[in-house]
Amino acid sequence: MTANTIPQLINGEWQQSRCEQPLPVTNPATQEVLCHVPYATPEEMEAAISSAKAAFAEWRDVPPPERARIMMVYQALLKEHHDELAEILAKETGKTFADAKGDVWRGIEVAEQACNIPSLLMGETAENVARAIDTYSYLQPLGVCAGITPFNFPAMIPLWMFPLAIACGNSFILKPSEQDPMTPNRLAELFQQAGFPKGLLQVVHGGREQVDTLLTHPDVRAISFVGSVNVGAHVYRTGCDHLKRVQAMTGAKNHMVIMPDADKNQVINNLVGASVGAAGQRCMAISVAVFVGEAASWIPELREAMAKVQPGAWDDAEAGYGPLISPQARERVLGLIAQGKSEGAECLLDGSDCVVEDYPDGNWVGPTLFSKVTPEMSIYKEEIFGPVLCTMEVDSLDEAICLINNSPFGNGTSIFTASGLAARHFQHHIEVGQVGINVPIPVPLPFFSFTGWKNSFYGDQHAYGKQAVRFYTETKTITARWFDQGMNSGPNMTINLR
Ligand code: NAD
Repeated sequence: MTANTIPQLINGEWQQSRCEQPLPVTNPATQEVLCHVPYATPEEMEAAISSAKAAFAEWRDVPPPERARIMMVYQALLKEHHDELAEILAKETGKTFADAKGDVWRGIEVAEQACNIPSLLMGETAENVARAIDTYSYLQPLGVCAGITPFNFPAMIPLWMFPLAIACGNSFILKPSEQDPMTPNRLAELFQQAGFPKGLLQVVHGGREQVDTLLTHPDVRAISFVGSVNVGAHVYRTGCDHLKRVQAMTGAKNHMVIMPDADKNQVINNLVGASVGAAGQRCMAISVAVFVGEAASWIPELREAMAKVQPGAWDDAEAGYGPLISPQARERVLGLIAQGKSEGAECLLDGSDCVVEDYPDGNWVGPTLFSKVTPEMSIYKEEIFGPVLCTMEVDSLDEAICLINNSPFGNGTSIFTASGLAARHFQHHIEVGQVGINVPIPVPLPFFSFTGWKNSFYGDQHAYGKQAVRFYTETKTITARWFDQGMNSGPNMTINLR
């Protein structure tokens, strides 16, 4: 075993893996090795799944108000440890401390929502559907559920999943991103501290092999996935092929439409934050700004505002955002910037040679702005996942809508305008699941759901909110009659209730 290898949570115990070649997890600003992450062995995967199955057998009968009471302790612990979680997260992702706190907070909000589980689990009733017959439905848990999460929100996205799944009465196996596994481990330690029974939450580490075990194992009932499109499509296909319930939240290319009647300063400030914040490593980042008519005259001022943003280390209070997650991610983004130039886009601001003082080894990319981008270019078609904004110019709102509707992605979009009529037209006709009106990153709060469309989502029920409660439960519908004396009217030879 390599020194400093993080443990896995299996059957309520933090155990060291028998994996022989754990991989290093590095600070993306310095390349310092923070820890090593193991890849769960087949025996460890089997142990996690079988103890999750055993834990479910008991937990399904714990009344929802009792489950909620433990969840209340958990959400309070998350708040108490908010800064500590954000610091772990900032070191392993490179996010600024303020942004890391936001990552944790948006997860805490889902844990808060899970405390409402008794009312979220209420079914439907109808009296006297036929003579003396009542029908009512209950939501019952599925069994062992599993979650596979990406690197870019190592607190928020695991917390989208396991608190609600477990509050619904399931047990849960989390397979976090191998790039930043320390934050999810800490979330799980606090979960144990809250007093949940052992075995309800398991944390196993790894990559494709471990994910494939979850996707094919007969004892796993449902899979929640968040990550890139190609992996999401593999997860969805394989999970469905093994007759599991699957929800896969995947990649994106999000457009912001800027109408000429919008408030210019608001547009510029919001575009800067939404495009290069978190180094553009957000599935809801704005990566394409579509200027309608005269609004295009603001592009030079947008360039000036973007040029003022400086990346830096997580504890630099002046830094606008941090490094990319890995040297490979940086190389990929630099490759796409070069491709943008060679395919004929005009690079108004180029962050390829970004240097951050005292951090020569960081995965830095400076704010980058392209104009004259066309739908055929790679920088338009691919999710860059870096601090790169493409601008496009159109003559009308309908032209902007048509452009966006032709995109294969449908995660998020926004419009900046002073016109209610334009906003209403946009929200009605746009084929995207999450729409902001003068809000650049419209990530819904947890009493709604995270509703990406098209290639940004494979499945039926989305993450968190009422849809997740449906995802993590089965509906049982009961049709009941209590005989009164003298009710016997002979055999009923039809399908009709009477
Ligand atoms: P990724 O697809 O590389 O990894 C996601 C998870 O899948 C990780 O746990 C990883 O270990 C696992 N994995 C990787 N390759 C696999 C394979 N071949 N088979 C099975 N499992 C595999 O994604 P990432 O780079 O960690 O995250 C960035 C991506 O996630 C972006 O595309 C982003 O848009 C997307 N994302 C989407 C949402 C959303 O809600 N739609 C939210 C956040 C991130």
